[in-house]
Amino acid sequence: MTQENVELLILGSGPAGYTAAIYAGRAGLKPVMYQGMQPGGQLTITNDVENFPGYPDGVQGPQMMEDLQKQAERFGLDNRYGMATSVDFSTPLAHKVIVDETHEITAKAVIIATGASAKWLGLESEQRLNGMGVSACAVCDGFFYRGKDVAIVGAGDTACEEAHYLSKLCKKVTMLVRRDEFRASTIMQERVKNTPNIEILFNTETEEVLGDNGVTGVRVRNKVTGETKEIALDGFFVAIGHQPNTDIFKGYLDMDDAGYLIVEKGSSRTNIPGVFASGDAQDKIYRQAITAAGSGCMAALDAERYLGEFH
Ligand code: NDP
Repeated sequence: MTQENVELLILGSGPAGYTAAIYAGRAGLKPVMYQGMQPGGQLTITNDVENFPGYPDGVQGPQMMEDLQKQAERFGLDNRYGMATSVDFSTPLAHKVIVDETHEITAKAVIIATGASAKWLGLESEQRLNGMGVSACAVCDGFFYRGKDVAIVGAGDTACEEAHYLSKLCKKVTMLVRRDEFRASTIMQERVKNTPNIEILFNTETEEVLGDNGVTGVRVRNKVTGETKEIALDGFFVAIGHQPNTDIFKGYLDMDDAGYLIVEKGSSRTNIPGVFASGDAQDKIYRQAITAAGSGCMAALDAERYLGEFH
């Protein structure tokens, strides 16, 4: 195993990681980044981004991530491919991170920006049509289905919030709920139930998303009657939860039941001094590129202050 010491290590290369790198680089902290499993993060599988401030004509998700990368590298980011596979955060100012099980890095401070991954149903058709009518983000992609018919799977607060969001843009939204009740809070349930262009199908499982080069419909099955039917659609949204990419921090960092890292209110500080968390790995509510970027900035400023105490 090779070994190396660094001042500041950033794990993850989405908007949180790169924003942290820009601030840390400009502060002279010589950040080293490992990009993780999906270099550029979730935005690299998004098409148009129209809600990131500063882009009046919108920007392609992959382009935005390239721009962020260039901006961070301009300020000296040492940017590397590789994935953190285990950590040991037991020694202050000497936090150990193993990358790809072959390289050990000891860092005085670590910024976690490992993000979260959308959960999928696991259907072959869902995977094949991903980005061609199948999406896990209504706020990102709903706009492309103005005046069209869409379906959304899920029964939690996210599914209700996204169904309501889509109902303002789309002609009709069909909610596919697998049980005979919602999981969402009552207020969110009431909101979708009282929206005339949202139809809720309970006890309904998705068998297949239909279409060759784009979504044309979905085949669903009623779990009680066993009856199957096809619904014509232009877009198919999945909102069945996210999984924060935080498994390797278990045992060291405080997290909630779903695995989201817990930070001190109004900061990026975790329970371990010198380890800071940003982006979707610690945010189950907002999950936007702009909020991730903002929290990456906070993490870099917190790390700078922390490291400043030891110089
Ligand atoms: P949740 O885990 O709360 O809900 C996931 C939903 O997806 C459940 O209804 C579940 O069904 C359903 N589901 C899971 N797997 C499948 C599957 N294979 N097929 C069909 N349906 C499936 O996730 P959310 O993202 O909705 O919310 C995460 C957290 O964030 C929650 O604590 C929520 O309250 C919070 N949140 C709060 C908001 C707010 O306050 N404004 C907004 C958004 C989220 P089942 O019920 O049958 O298990």
